[in-house]
Amino acid sequence: MSTFTAQQSSSTTSSFSARALDLKLKQVRLAHPEQSLPSPPSSNGASSPVERDYFYLRSLKECVEIYEDENRGKSESLAMLSDEEVVLLADNGKVAPHALEKLFGMNELERAVRVRRAIISRSSATKTLESSSIPYENYDYSRVIGACCENVVGYIPIPLGVAGPLNVDGTSFPIPMATAEGTLVASTSRGCKALNAGGGVSTVLVGDAMTRGPAIDFPSIKVAAQAKAWVDSAEGYAEMKAAFESTSRFAKLKSLKTAMAGRTMYIRFATTTGDAMGMNMISKGTEKALDTMQARFPSMAVLALSGNYCTDKKPAAINWIEGRGKSVVAEAVIPGHIVKTVLKTTVGGLCNLNVKKNLIGSAMAGSIGGFNAHASNILTAIFLATGQDPAQNVESSMCMTLMEPTNNGEDLLCSVTMPCIEVGTVGGGTVLAAQQGVLEMLGVKGAHPQQPGKNAQTLARVIASAVLAGELSLLSALAAGHLIKAHVAHNRSRVNTPAASVPVTPGPQA
Ligand code: ADP
Repeated sequence: MSTFTAQQSSSTTSSFSARALDLKLKQVRLAHPEQSLPSPPSSNGASSPVERDYFYLRSLKECVEIYEDENRGKSESLAMLSDEEVVLLADNGKVAPHALEKLFGMNELERAVRVRRAIISRSSATKTLESSSIPYENYDYSRVIGACCENVVGYIPIPLGVAGPLNVDGTSFPIPMATAEGTLVASTSRGCKALNAGGGVSTVLVGDAMTRGPAIDFPSIKVAAQAKAWVDSAEGYAEMKAAFESTSRFAKLKSLKTAMAGRTMYIRFATTTGDAMGMNMISKGTEKALDTMQARFPSMAVLALSGNYCTDKKPAAINWIEGRGKSVVAEAVIPGHIVKTVLKTTVGGLCNLNVKKNLIGSAMAGSIGGFNAHASNILTAIFLATGQDPAQNVESSMCMTLMEPTNNGEDLLCSVTMPCIEVGTVGGGTVLAAQQGVLEMLGVKGAHPQQPGKNAQTLARVIASAVLAGELSLLSALAAGHLIKAHVAHNRSRVNTPAASVPVTPGPQA
């Protein structure tokens, strides 16, 4: 915490700690909640030193003089003013609240956040932010500024639980889950236990390509069709690929999918992005490739780098069909006795419920990629814990859960198919300290030293496997509930009442 010397216009000059000052001012505000800001003492010397000590607030004129003194840099001037005085300057339009970090400098980032809280708090209807329980201290804001968030007033803590461990492709992983949904971690852990008992989960990565789909206008459908034919040709593809890949050593173009809607053309660029989730990277490459195209088709107009043909953060069949990010399938066999003892249900009961709920039920609802019980619950909790973009849970949670009896009906064969797991281990929220701690625990922090992309792929495999655990556990709970009802129905003899909740075949055997 910095100390400063008050540059008072009266004869009294004193040194004091900004921290002590801030605390004192807070007490003043708490004692007089009706006063959002103590009135500044007049600058004509009428206020006594005692009064000045009480408020530590100089007049606006004095503060402006200090702040605008051209003999000093802005950060140096601000270090001479108390928090309250900076608030006073902001309230009078002299300091832009969004620019506080830049003005204070990198060594005073927490102060910038504290002062902004005060400014916003006092201009709000409730005036609660400043004294609220939203934390702001002891946070590494240097990782946030210019990268993760603007106008920062603190951070939101979310409980972090660990499910598992879960054996994925022969390695045991703790499953980090940031969530406020009680029972989610416990339930996922139960699924992990059942999966481990069968030898764990095996996964395959069947696709790895982030996508961007710009919208491009042409003067007519004829020119648009010519451009489409060129992009679809071997020559056009090679030229676009060379331009695209010149922008990054990690971006490798995999495909270009084109479509027309009237005179507007859409191109879905699909590329590997190393260990980055890849939206920044692919946007840069796409821009460069479109420059190349523009040279050939001068009449084209790029309407938007994202023309929703990507499709990012919105439900879309194209993602479900073509994949986006990491496409992973995870599979496991669970011995029948484990289904009974750990999951408290039967192989037949689980398979029947999975068909009726996850497949037929979702088909009845007209779902796209929602053929699962709660993939989003597990995926989003891991996304939050590992610094992923939570808005991408829309497509990343697309999942088809399948269950069938195996080994003569004794055991359960189950899988999840997830075509769009959009994750990275560099960039975005993965740079934040706590999220990095979680990635480190998983052994996938940052860029993979030998094989770029392997860390992000491993994270996707772990997420799919954890989703399988979550699916198993929730479906088992539902099936077990059904079993209990089935038992009750069987044990009651009700003449002329069909035991409607007990399917004939291949439902649970009561
Ligand atoms: P995103 O594209 O997901 O938004 P960023 O652009 O924030 O991610 O982060 C990617 C940056 O990290 C790029 O500048 C890239 O050059 C760098 N980088 C370093 N190592 C890797 C790696 N193994 N994979 C991907 N990017 C990497």
